[in-house]
Amino acid sequence: MNHHHYIGGQWVPPVSNQWFETTNPSTGEVLAHLAWGTAPDVERAVQAAHRASVQWAAEDGIERGRILARVAKRLVKEKERLAVLESEDTGKPLSQARADVVVAARYFEFYSGWADKFGGTTIPVPGPFLDYTLREPLGVVAVIIPWNYPLQIGARAVAAPLAVGNVVVLKPAEEASLSVLALAKICQEEGVPAGVVNVVTGYGDQAGAPLAAHPAINHLTFTGSLEVGRKVAAAAASNIVPVTLELGGKSPHIVFASSNLDRAVSIIVKSFLQNAGQTCSAGSRILVHESRHDELVQRLQQYLQDIKIGQGLTDPDLGPLISMSQKTRVEEYIQLAEQEGAAVWMGRQPHGASGYFVPPVLLDRVNVNSRIFHEEIFGPVASVTPFAEEFDAVQLANATDYGLVAAIWTDDVGQAHRVARQLRTGQVFINSYGAGGGVEMPFGGYGHSGFGREKGTEALYHYTQLKNVAVYIGE
Ligand code: NAD
Repeated sequence: MNHHHYIGGQWVPPVSNQWFETTNPSTGEVLAHLAWGTAPDVERAVQAAHRASVQWAAEDGIERGRILARVAKRLVKEKERLAVLESEDTGKPLSQARADVVVAARYFEFYSGWADKFGGTTIPVPGPFLDYTLREPLGVVAVIIPWNYPLQIGARAVAAPLAVGNVVVLKPAEEASLSVLALAKICQEEGVPAGVVNVVTGYGDQAGAPLAAHPAINHLTFTGSLEVGRKVAAAAASNIVPVTLELGGKSPHIVFASSNLDRAVSIIVKSFLQNAGQTCSAGSRILVHESRHDELVQRLQQYLQDIKIGQGLTDPDLGPLISMSQKTRVEEYIQLAEQEGAAVWMGRQPHGASGYFVPPVLLDRVNVNSRIFHEEIFGPVASVTPFAEEFDAVQLANATDYGLVAAIWTDDVGQAHRVARQLRTGQVFINSYGAGGGVEMPFGGYGHSGFGREKGTEALYHYTQLKNVAVYIGE
């Protein structure tokens, strides 16, 4: 089946008249053909968005909210169909795909509630003046997203800007675009006006780059790698438009001596196996007090031994990686770990599987000076590094250029809050990793994990610009 772009409320073929394959990572089978987007398609989409932007910005917040709420309801209603589509396209286990649909719906629900409530403030000033602020939409928001959570990330980058009166041109990743196209169809059917949401599929250099560099966009939201993030930020700088960058991570679990391992072990495992470790916020660096090191490693290995690996639709604990190149990259990191002196432990290999599978891997006694301590592997791999003192734990946690998420495991309430203050990360979890879908909580990075915040109310500040109005009211 050939999938068209969604531009100006219409399903249109690519100007290039070319298509590319999208495959199922669990089996290698071709799932569909996607429109091969290039600069002229991007041009059409940005023009369509501009035409729609004035009316959408002027629309009553109540009505914008009602439309978003209808999209949320449809996502919930179509949970199973969308979960199967997402699992086939990304390889992720079906229950993870189901959770992704629920979170996507929740973004529309959450931001629908804000559409008629997000406004400015009044400011006390000296003299006979009334001073107040207005929060106004930016206009056309260009969104470029990765393949790991297309529906979730697509939903958050559509629902928030739309709620406060912006319009969107979205370029999903070439590896996994199907759920984003399904979301566009739901938007069309639930009354999102033509041109308010536009989707152009295609490769990064041919569709993503012209979108990022387009002089008529008013904001850029990029989720993806550090390398491409640099290019996108340069394009934004050149056009003087604001940019939100959600880049990678190398997020630590800090396991102190008093930790409750009965609770911690399964949550730590889930944090680096979810989506086969292809998660920006994967908890992939385990820092453990030396007194609990042997016990923790033993318990993690025991847990990982029983992990079920398989095709996404069979709903295993661990599915395949997205592509052969991603599998090769992860295997090269495992070899590097051996060369760098880490003790490599591997779970069971899947039998007779044709997808891009890698078993769970633990790299023990990883040195702070090694590459694998610092670089994002993006596979089902975690490193373990022991520490002696609280001070050392904080130094190790902050030793990478990234700063997305961290978890602190301790029974000492003072220690938990003391350490949370010292971590250079955008989110800290105490005795947990995640809290629901995270829709309500501001999310984003310190350092090379990026800047700007998505999710929660905080995202709405990034999708609006502030105008101050001062009125002389007479003596
Ligand atoms: P990627 O940077 O290769 O691709 C992301 C998107 O950018 C894709 O849509 C791609 O087509 C596009 N792109 C590629 N080259 C481009 C260019 N020159 N100009 C404009 N767009 C271009 O990333 P990926 O491999 O798809 O995803 C993995 C990375 O994403 C990891 O580093 C991961 O940590 C990060 N990520 C971050 C978050 C977050 O919220 N912080 C979430 C998910 C993934």
